[in-house]
Amino acid sequence: MFSNLSDKLDKAFHVLKGHGKITEINVAETLKEVRRALLDADVNFKIAKDFTAKVKDKAMGQDVLTTLQPGQLMVKLVKDELTELMGGDVAGINLSGAPTVILMSGLQGSGKTTFSGKLANYLQTKKGKKPLLVACDIYRPAAIQQLYVVGDSIGVEVYSEPENKNPVEIAQNAIKHAKANGFNVVIVDTAGRLAVDEEMMNEIERVHKAIQPQETLFVVDSMTGQDAVNTAKTFNDRLNFDGVILTKLDGDTRGGAALSIKSVVNKPIKFVGTGEKMEAIDVFYPDRMAERILGMGDVVSLVERAQEQYNEEEARKLQKKIAKNEFGFDDFLAQIQQVKKMGNMKDLVGMIPGASKAMKDVEIEDDAFKHIEAIIYSMTPKERSKPALIDMKRKTRIAKGSGTKIEQVNQLMKQFEQMSKMMKMMQGPGGKNLMKMMGG
Ligand code: GDP
Repeated sequence: MFSNLSDKLDKAFHVLKGHGKITEINVAETLKEVRRALLDADVNFKIAKDFTAKVKDKAMGQDVLTTLQPGQLMVKLVKDELTELMGGDVAGINLSGAPTVILMSGLQGSGKTTFSGKLANYLQTKKGKKPLLVACDIYRPAAIQQLYVVGDSIGVEVYSEPENKNPVEIAQNAIKHAKANGFNVVIVDTAGRLAVDEEMMNEIERVHKAIQPQETLFVVDSMTGQDAVNTAKTFNDRLNFDGVILTKLDGDTRGGAALSIKSVVNKPIKFVGTGEKMEAIDVFYPDRMAERILGMGDVVSLVERAQEQYNEEEARKLQKKIAKNEFGFDDFLAQIQQVKKMGNMKDLVGMIPGASKAMKDVEIEDDAFKHIEAIIYSMTPKERSKPALIDMKRKTRIAKGSGTKIEQVNQLMKQFEQMSKMMKMMQGPGGKNLMKMMGG
């Protein structure tokens, strides 16, 4: 995420770090580089110019010229300004109303339907809500079908009226249905077009007026850069929406949309989409995002994700197994599944301070555990619980079965052995505290 921008900003600060003594000239030079980095990330020219002007003012006010570590101070000033640019504080979602009505808007392909599902899933699992998804696309039967697939996968009911060609009526009927059946959130997915067009705008405006949503959210694909900002402006002029959803932030986006949208439409980014799975939704925290852009990592989010996956009962069971020396490859596999639920590897690495930079030349596979899983799946259940049974002949078979090399099988067996030893050590005297420290 934003790796180009991060690299360039890092280089910009090098100008300062290289000099023992700071002059007004090399502060200006640094800021010129910062501005260039922002422009390259597809940030609008005026925003980039204002940005550096503000940082310069603050820098001068704080006496960067005499401070001991001018490089660090500049990084902090840029971080604060990036945070401000992306909205400052975190913006919550308004869940008032009985039911809360949420209207989704945006172009076709922006990720509206996927996000409707993610939001429903988030509200159901994290906020204890009972959401209803509503299919209001009267043009594409496939769109209605897609919402059913999404709803099915998360166990959320979908409301549709395939014969009705009036989206205002469908939305109103859905709200009635929600009231009568105990749903407390109604998420209305609307029709999108490939580009802004008058008919679509009129239609969503009519739906908006008729159902008076508590939240009107504008969904936009972050990969589209400046276009995203222009589309946001058009939708905002018509709907005066409440918040922005940036999708596909897991892709190779340059970051321009995230950095420009708030100042152009003056509406906060509320959530981001970071993958195709239903769990790939994050509340948007401007300060954490600024830290990630500057390669400072985002430990807070990383710990939060780990905590979300932490299951006390499972952890206790696991501890018992380790104590009894029964930790096997099946348990190992279960641990991998948990880590995978935290997000894709690239994303996780980006959250570790300094790691993005250190590993920028390392190719990280999205599915880094693919080979390990294949190897374990090629073992028999007996072998998984008693790895000592695996001899050379079996190793060759396993490598063949999993499409890997025998070296990879050996390596995994060795790692597993070391891990088992370490776990046993932690169970010994004094080890309990260590386990606790690690959240076990
Ligand atoms: P809609 O036309 O606006 O309803 O868009 P869809 O929800 O159908 O999404 C369009 C495509 O983008 C689908 O292939 C989705 O799987 C994909 N998509 C949506 N959100 C994300 C995301 O956050 N990350 C990635 N990588 N893909 C996404």
